Amino acid sequence: MELLKERIRKDGIIKEGNVLKVDSFLNHQMDIDLLNEIGKEFKRLFADRPVNKILTIEASGIGIACIAAQYFNAPVVFAKKKQSINIDGEVYSTKIESFTHKTVYDVIVSKKFLHKEDHILIIDDFLANGCAMEGLIDLVQSSGAIIEGIGIVIEKGFQKGGELIRSKGVHVESLAIVDGMNAQTGEVIFRN
Ligand code: 5GP
Repeated sequence: MELLKERIRKDGIIKEGNVLKVDSFLNHQMDIDLLNEIGKEFKRLFADRPVNKILTIEASGIGIACIAAQYFNAPVVFAKKKQSINIDGEVYSTKIESFTHKTVYDVIVSKKFLHKEDHILIIDDFLANGCAMEGLIDLVQSSGAIIEGIGIVIEKGFQKGGELIRSKGVHVESLAIVDGMNAQTGEVIFRN
């Protein structure tokens, strides 16, 4: 998606440790015109899939998923992060290792909001090592619902997540794939 790549080149900030900051348009301040284009693009890419629900994870995925959901006429469910939980049987739960915080946390979705009849599109802001996606896939599989696809705004193609998740046979679409970035020069290299 050219518009997104241009924006990353213009406003993305490369941090040490392979972190791309996109706080000015995606992760803190959100550019709604851009999010609308992202939503339309996800709809175009998954137009042939019978998506009836969108699943994401708090916090950064929520805004993106809500805007995209308008093009699918589907509700959004977001997985919640918990420090520690007493699993009471009312929730599906899994563990995710945070790329940015280097900690492991529990993630839950109420059983009320994921059913085996559901056809799920998973949406998130970044795909890096794939831990967040593995966790969300695990939650959906626990419910028996079908994963119609995964829509990612920015995939860091030099980390292992893309390959890991695609090797599970899941249809993954990333709107921009970054194959390299240089914290010294500020250069971002995209996959064609
Ligand atoms: P993964 O689980 O694939 O390793 O990492 C995905 C999660 O980590 C995303 O939900 C995102 O919040 C965060 N993340 C990973 N890499 C980056 C990055 O370069 N920049 C930002 N802003 N977030 C990232």
